Amino acid sequence: MNRLRKGTLNRLFRALACVMILIFTFDAGNIMVSAEVTEDSIKAKEAQISKQKEERDSLKNAKTNLENVKKELEKDKSNLNKYIAELDASLTEIQSKIDELSGNIEKKETEIKETTDDLNEAERTQKAQYEAMKQRIKFMYERGNTIYLELLLGAGSYADMLNKAEYTEMLSAYDRKKLNEYIATTELIALNKKALEEEKETLNLAKASKQEEEGNMQNLLDAKGAELQSVKADIGDKEAAIAEYEAEIKAENEAIAALEKEVAADKASLYNKYKYDGGMFTFPCPNYSRVSDQFGMRIHPTLGIQKMHNGVDFAAPAGSAILAAYNGTVVAADYNGTMGNYVMINHGAGLYTIYMHCSALYVSKGQDVTAGTKIAAVGSTGRSTGNHLHFGVRLNGAYVSPWNYLK
Ligand SMILES: [Zn+2]
Repeated sequence: MNRLRKGTLNRLFRALACVMILIFTFDAGNIMVSAEVTEDSIKAKEAQISKQKEERDSLKNAKTNLENVKKELEKDKSNLNKYIAELDASLTEIQSKIDELSGNIEKKETEIKETTDDLNEAERTQKAQYEAMKQRIKFMYERGNTIYLELLLGAGSYADMLNKAEYTEMLSAYDRKKLNEYIATTELIALNKKALEEEKETLNLAKASKQEEEGNMQNLLDAKGAELQSVKADIGDKEAAIAEYEAEIKAENEAIAALEKEVAADKASLYNKYKYDGGMFTFPCPNYSRVSDQFGMRIHPTLGIQKMHNGVDFAAPAGSAILAAYNGTVVAADYNGTMGNYVMINHGAGLYTIYMHCSALYVSKGQDVTAGTKIAAVGSTGRSTGNHLHFGVRLNGAYVSPWNYLK
């Protein structure tokens, strides 16, 4: 019997040890979580988020500035394209002028060539007439007076011969008329040729001037083309820089989203780690003297109308201890004109307790409390007529009677 008991005890101890290790491990896990995630660690992450948002916004500004620069460049590009099109049109016009001038010069050259042929023909005719005339004079003199023949044959030119009055007399009227006609024709053709050559020279000068214009225009066009290329390259650079900014902004946004998700998870782990298990509350104001106001509808003492009182008022001496009603996380420990100094505790599963009009608060937001932890002292802060604890219970967003949870 004794041995049996001893064995059973041993087994019990072993089982207990196991449970204790389990509890210890669980606690250790909890401690680790609460050591990592605190109100301060969340605040630090939120500060990091706003810093990264600032960085992202300054990147956005830089990007906007670049986009404006790019817009200006696009305007330059469009203006240059327009100007180049105009230059191209002018150049085409000049080139067609040059073509026209070249055509005219060619025509003039043909005319000059034809005139030169005419001139040569006229000179040949004139010479032939002269030769014929000389023959006739020679024939005339072969019959008689040889002195004239000698003179005639010795004359260096027709002009020399004409100067001899004696000969003039002897020339037939026909020969003289014909010769004069030929001379006049030759002179006219020579004049015409000279005029044509002058015209050709004028055309050549006009062509040269147009060619110079063409050269200048081509240089301008080349310069504007180079400018356009450089503006296009500049736009390309700006586009690449904008793309880089966009990538950086995207990375910042992703980092911000990740941090925000982390903060949300941290807050969830900080405020939602308790899950109310249905247990009864610890009395929040053990030193109370009386219940000064009940939960529920009541007639307003002076206005005479019905009003909802959403908690239970426990009258107690100032400074009396206020205890956490159940395990949970403090989600608010603050001051408000109506509630005075107040504490709100999240117990999980949609259940919250609220403690109002305190003279002092002993806990802060994010802090874990267990049932019975001294969280505040009774006072009369906010809208209150005397020292008391207003104790409220919220379940899934609505006030419920605290008596449901109090013995
Ligand atoms: Zn009250």
